Amino acid sequence: MLRCIECDAETDRFEPGWRTLLSFDPEQDSFDEAVSYCPECSVREFDFPSRVSPRD
Ligand SMILES: [Zn+2]
Repeated sequence: MLRCIECDAETDRFEPGWRTLLSFDPEQDSFDEAVSYCPECSVREFDFPSRVSPRD
């Protein structure tokens, strides 16, 4: 399940427009936890039109 860290929207499945980002922790030399944005918040946060973006 994904939960938007901005507005707490949730989705049971990966839907177009959702973005999941991994934050890299240089001290641990590993990826930290993933953060997800719903389509509305990803547009607001990243300031570009929602595109179908397979988890990148
Ligand atoms: Zn949101």
